[in-house]
Amino acid sequence: MCSMRAAARACAHSEQQRLWTGYTTCRQAKMFLKGPDLAVTRYALSIRRRDMHCLVGIITEHVALNRHLKLIGVKDNSICPLCSEKEETALHFLGQCPAALVTIWQRVLGTHPLTALELGKVKFLNLIRFAHSSGRFTAP
Ligand SMILES: [Zn+2]
Repeated sequence: MCSMRAAARACAHSEQQRLWTGYTTCRQAKMFLKGPDLAVTRYALSIRRRDMHCLVGIITEHVALNRHLKLIGVKDNSICPLCSEKEETALHFLGQCPAALVTIWQRVLGTHPLTALELGKVKFLNLIRFAHSSGRFTAP
């Protein structure tokens, strides 16, 4: 019985991994999540609802930043209001905007700017801390 359960679990994990790597969508989420991960699931289930809201917003980019707001028809343009140089994506806001909250980033993480690869390695707790400190990822 246990070996059947283990085999089913391994099969499910393999299928999840195949689907995750096979999809060409979810660019932002793939920056933060490398595939199905039980430790990430356990972490997500252990945090407060408010923190989960921030984390999901950051990972999926479904958050009140101009790129997403333009995509859903709320704003006319997606340019960052702080630097007026690039689209206000989560990557830009969190790690690359020259005008955005650099002091908060340096306090929370100790460095700025960050590449997409570096941002993908930031601990979720630090992303949540930054999100709360920025005031931009609050629930409506
Ligand atoms: Zn900017």
